[in-house]
Amino acid sequence: MGKLTPMMKQYLDLKEKYKDCILFFRLGDFYEMFFDDAILASKELEITLTGRDCGLKERAPMCGVPHHSAENYIAKLIDKGHKVAICEQVEDPSVSKGIVKRDVVKIITPGTVMDAYMLDEKENNYIMSIYVDDDGAGISFADVSTGELRTTEFTKDNFINCLLDEIVKINPKEIIINTLQCLGYDLKSEIYTVLSKPYIDVFDSWAFKQDYAIKKIKQHFNIIAIEGFGIDDKNHSTCSIGALFEYLQKTQKNSLSHINNIYFYSSDAYMILDKSTRRNLELTETMREKKRKGSLLWILDKTNTAMGGRILKKWIEEPLKDIGEIQSRLDAVEELKENILAREELKELLNNVYDLERLVVRISYGNANARDLIALKGSLEVLPKVKKILDSFNTLKLKNVLYEINLVQEVKELIKQSIMDDPPITIKEGGIIKRFYNHELDELREIISNSKQWIANLENNERLKTGIKSLKIGFNKVFGYYLEVTKTNLNLVPENYIRKQTLANAERYITPELKEAESKILGAEDKVVELEYQIFVQIRDEIKKFTKEIQNTARAIATLDALISFAEVSDRFGYTKPKINNDLLIDICNGRHPVVERTMDFDMFIGNDTLLDGDENRFSIITGPNMAGKSTYMRQVALIVLMAQIGCFVPADKATIGVVDRIFTRVGASDDLARGQSTFMVEMSELANILNNATKKSLIILDEIGRGTSTYDGLSIAWAVVEYISSKKVLGARTLFATHYHELTELEGILNGVKNYCISVEECNDDIIFLRKIIRGSADQSYGIQVAKLAGVIDDVITRAKQILLQLEENDINKKNLKEDTTINKTNEVIYEKQMSIFDGKNNDVIEELKKIDILDITPMEAMNHLYKLVKLA
Ligand code: ADP
Repeated sequence: MGKLTPMMKQYLDLKEKYKDCILFFRLGDFYEMFFDDAILASKELEITLTGRDCGLKERAPMCGVPHHSAENYIAKLIDKGHKVAICEQVEDPSVSKGIVKRDVVKIITPGTVMDAYMLDEKENNYIMSIYVDDDGAGISFADVSTGELRTTEFTKDNFINCLLDEIVKINPKEIIINTLQCLGYDLKSEIYTVLSKPYIDVFDSWAFKQDYAIKKIKQHFNIIAIEGFGIDDKNHSTCSIGALFEYLQKTQKNSLSHINNIYFYSSDAYMILDKSTRRNLELTETMREKKRKGSLLWILDKTNTAMGGRILKKWIEEPLKDIGEIQSRLDAVEELKENILAREELKELLNNVYDLERLVVRISYGNANARDLIALKGSLEVLPKVKKILDSFNTLKLKNVLYEINLVQEVKELIKQSIMDDPPITIKEGGIIKRFYNHELDELREIISNSKQWIANLENNERLKTGIKSLKIGFNKVFGYYLEVTKTNLNLVPENYIRKQTLANAERYITPELKEAESKILGAEDKVVELEYQIFVQIRDEIKKFTKEIQNTARAIATLDALISFAEVSDRFGYTKPKINNDLLIDICNGRHPVVERTMDFDMFIGNDTLLDGDENRFSIITGPNMAGKSTYMRQVALIVLMAQIGCFVPADKATIGVVDRIFTRVGASDDLARGQSTFMVEMSELANILNNATKKSLIILDEIGRGTSTYDGLSIAWAVVEYISSKKVLGARTLFATHYHELTELEGILNGVKNYCISVEECNDDIIFLRKIIRGSADQSYGIQVAKLAGVIDDVITRAKQILLQLEENDINKKNLKEDTTINKTNEVIYEKQMSIFDGKNNDVIEELKKIDILDITPMEAMNHLYKLVKLA
């Protein structure tokens, strides 16, 4: 066994500290990886695996990537869910004794990437910290590239479910957590069932301690009390923040000063949407292809800035519940919609605004180059014009935007005076700082320019002196300045010329004077480059002081951009301003599906009305053949409600929306088979979720409950579900229920609040024509065979199916039985209501009192007296 080489020892010492990362070890112009890292990286990056002598008997497996193109390789590894630790030389090799010192300078992880090429500009990239114990959960999450940090906590009975819903909404790329086990849940697998495998790590438990968190927060914000953030009584939140800061410091190895606020929010403030609802409604991506095109976001996002795009996506993911807030967005959208000219001007101006949020973080991190500063200046120059236009607007939200936009004149002036208009990408080769900004720099440039002039004159003088007309002065990197004489004129070369280089048909010379001028130029040029760099860094640091002002401005611009986008689509697509209130009424006149209507030729989409009032019309049973438009209709209602609650106008002639606390959807067969669950099992667990969590204020969309089992099982479940949800005492949530069980339409008139609707079709000989119009009443048949025919099923099968259907219908005694049985359901509703009230302690006395009554042996007067007593007890 040999002895490790010093370099390999250095490598292994570092690797020991960063076990969970792939270590990029800087050797010359390459980042090298060794041992297991090399084997893994060579596979993931499809690069050659070689070996290197490391002092041991076996060569160390090794692979490497060039330093200048490392970005792409790192991005690939991050994308595949790995972490990368970047190890650089941290001392100048020329002054080091022995092996040059190396250390990890940053860790790049999926949730903390900063570089533009790894980020989607219209999406936030979150790292989340979760703290759970038996009493609740706290989460905090940050987008390091924008400086946003938010936190919330859940302490209700079913806090794990709330936590999972919130995780789905935020969609973090990486999670750190204090434990994976809580109340019998395996949190990792729970999270993996709702999100596509974010990086999850159990982080040091001490970092989640409350005292530690408070200390960390105080340190970070340089404050003595944390009350200002509204988290002093939010222990779970606080614990999660401490670990988040610890982790960010560990990975970023940077000041994090751009994270300058903690925003606590209550998840109660927003409409809750679980994973399947988000997917079913195709809010930000389509269900099957996972593409943005075809989603609600695709329709609504007409933003002109990256920041606007990000905030709009967030709004779609977080519909509001507070009427005031919703109204304030709607009013602003209305004002922007009506002022077309001003809106057009604003759009034009916003087009010139760069991603200030991420730009300012690059400045704060010391990663910004001169072009970034020019982009910042360009963006700031637009702001006075934006403010001027906004000045004529009256709605509160736009007034706030106006107020929040800070012109940061100092920054604009500073960049204007100091940075060249078209600077290079690199900041280490000069060409950045303008004339007259720095005296010393101007002097050095003067020296260079004088010396260059002196050399140009020298060329002329030497030609005259020597009589060599073709004499030239040139420059190359190896020999510096030289005098070049062609072979034919060599006889005229004076004594004092010193020969330096021979070419095929010329000789090159130097003279002491030429070299003196050269050293002046080169010395000054080096100094200029160094000085320009120093000045640039000073300017960048100066701008860093305005981080908060620029961040606030960026957020105001983002809000404005998103509101303009809503106004734009509302105008373009004929949306109307909904009326919002806290009642239970959803009244939509001629509503349309915002996405489906856009995929059709003009005006082909048939609008439909909706009335759900939480009372007489709280439960709609919708029948109609396949392809009639049931799913489209139900989704359109959900989307109109959601659009209203994000503050956007809605695709309808008129709409009144009583604010909804949750939208639930149970739609079609989901593709969760991969998780090893049968379609029926998935359907039932989604149903269980709805029944457990819905409230009177919820909106429920049910598309075909109970299809994945035998007809009778399915029908019975569907039937019971209608009874349960429609009962006002039990739930009474506003519900749209599409079904092929025509038996269910018998429930209208039996169960309160249940109404039948169907999507009309017209029979034409043997075919059907879809009218797409929803009308009161129930469909008399399913037209399954006609739809099969439309879909191109061969004639033989269609004819035979018709025969079989006829026979089946003749023998269908069960249908009759079910009809006769409907009376049972009245009693069922009473039973449910009773069951509910039995749980209520007070009502036990009522029941005891009731039991004492002999119903067959009392007079009407006694009955009245009993009733009076019971009312008092209740
Ligand atoms: P169902 O759920 O009844 O099987 P879908 O809602 O899937 O039917 O609708 C089938 C197709 O009909 C949709 O893809 C859409 O192209 C069209 N469609 C649905 N509703 C309408 C409408 N209101 N106007 C025009 N076309 C519609």
